[in-house]
Amino acid sequence: MKICIIGAGPSGLAQLRAFQSAKEKGEAIPEIVCYEKQKDWGGLWRYDWRTGVDEYGNPVHGSMYRYLWSNGPKEGLEFADYTFDEHFGKAIASYPPRAVLFDYIEGRVKKAGVRDWIQFSTVVRDVSFDEGTGLFTVTARNCETDTETAEQFDHVIVASGHFSFPNVPYYPGFESFNGRILHAHDFRDAREFEDKDILILGTSYSAEDIGSQCWKYGAKSITVSHRTAPMGFDWPDNWQEVPALERVEGKTAYFKDGTEKTVDAIILCTGYKHHFPFLPDDLRLKTANRLAATDLYKGVVWVKNPKMFYLGMQDQWFTFNMFDAQAWWVRDAILGRIALPDRAAMDADWQKRQADEDAYDSDHDAIVYQGDYVKELIAETDYPSFNVDGANEAFFQWKKHKKKAIMAFRDNGYTSPITGTVAPPHHTPWRHALDDSLESYLQLGTEAAE
Ligand SMILES: Cc1cc2nc3c(=O)[nH]c(=O)nc-3n(C[C@H](O)[C@H](O)[C@H](O)COP(=O)(O)OP(=O)(O)OC[C@H]3O[C@@H](n4cnc5c(N)ncnc54)[C@H](O)[C@@H]3O)c2cc1C
Repeated sequence: MKICIIGAGPSGLAQLRAFQSAKEKGEAIPEIVCYEKQKDWGGLWRYDWRTGVDEYGNPVHGSMYRYLWSNGPKEGLEFADYTFDEHFGKAIASYPPRAVLFDYIEGRVKKAGVRDWIQFSTVVRDVSFDEGTGLFTVTARNCETDTETAEQFDHVIVASGHFSFPNVPYYPGFESFNGRILHAHDFRDAREFEDKDILILGTSYSAEDIGSQCWKYGAKSITVSHRTAPMGFDWPDNWQEVPALERVEGKTAYFKDGTEKTVDAIILCTGYKHHFPFLPDDLRLKTANRLAATDLYKGVVWVKNPKMFYLGMQDQWFTFNMFDAQAWWVRDAILGRIALPDRAAMDADWQKRQADEDAYDSDHDAIVYQGDYVKELIAETDYPSFNVDGANEAFFQWKKHKKKAIMAFRDNGYTSPITGTVAPPHHTPWRHALDDSLESYLQLGTEAAE
């Protein structure tokens, strides 16, 4: 049996680790090939300073920026088989910057020794399925050698992420705006907006965090425009929330309530699309960004062809440990340890999950809902069970701390649901920690090294 994994971000790496964990227990596993379009692993957590296209003309995958710190507590995403304490050898604070989380992700897969399964700088161009042979053909281009291969596989696991292809709205006047318009996908460095007046469209995590970054690094003012409701946090004095944008003229933005604001830049925090240019219609996931994705049994099995799987396609409260729960489950489905029901039952499964999701109307319920999903998958495999309710609790505290002080919530610490370790406070409050390199971050107990 031969398995293809598309993408070596946190989801694809979870899948490699799942198979490797079976192998280290002496179990037979299939041949595994993981194609990764970037030069290295880590997905979005591998910082890419570029925007637009990469050196081979492929769209840049990265949507993360310099100075990004985890936007949720690390206690909610901790791997159950590889704790923060194990990786760093000491307790660290609850909201690590990107470089620190990349180091953590990398530590587990280095230890597992799965790098040889990955073909880097190799972009999947096409996938097709042959009903006669029951095999997939995956066509991939090695961009370094500029050669294309077409290989056959029994199963394909899509782990290519869904926060990379921007959803870009249009407003009248955009084409003649006398400033810069960019999507969050292309935002890289808040220092670019020092002393500038910024308009942000949207109320997502990107809007909140990119605005906060710009504020931290010295933007003159931040204006956030919402279509439905404001975020409603207790923002700093130079931050305002306004209704929907109607049009721009020159450098002036006009809003639905008749107010206006002259700005230097407009940042579109308007979300991402599930986009799989390498998949034909019959294999291509088409879903909204929601907790229960359309056409995925147990959130991972492609109901229209259950030899194919998707990882990490849900909207996410839980991330790394949810990807693990999915990867272990998919591994066991492929190894025949978990039986799949017929098509009607699989359809009923995702439809019920969506109905249950729709019945909830609070973030609290949504966290519990996704925590229950993680519990459900873990109970069916040998992934180390952990205190999912404890992870939920870290999320509840996080929400509370954001409400209390949006520019200081990252100064709080929580309890690990795996080890019980209580995170110490970071040595410098987030708003003053301008150097967020791994070296600076790990200087616990000392004064800021700035
Ligand atoms: C700005 C931003 C901030 C975030 N902050 C947090 C946070 O603080 N905490 C948190 O837990 N989560 C955060 N996330 C969520 C993030 O989605 C997950 O943490 C995680 O990166 C998802 O992993 P993934 O492997 O599913 O996808 P990705 O990380 O996107 O990895 C997908 C991989 O697939 C590869 N790939 C794509 N297409 C192809 C192809 N055709 N051929 C070969 N390879 C391909 C890509 O190069 C990439 O390496 C954030 C997301 C964004 C965009």
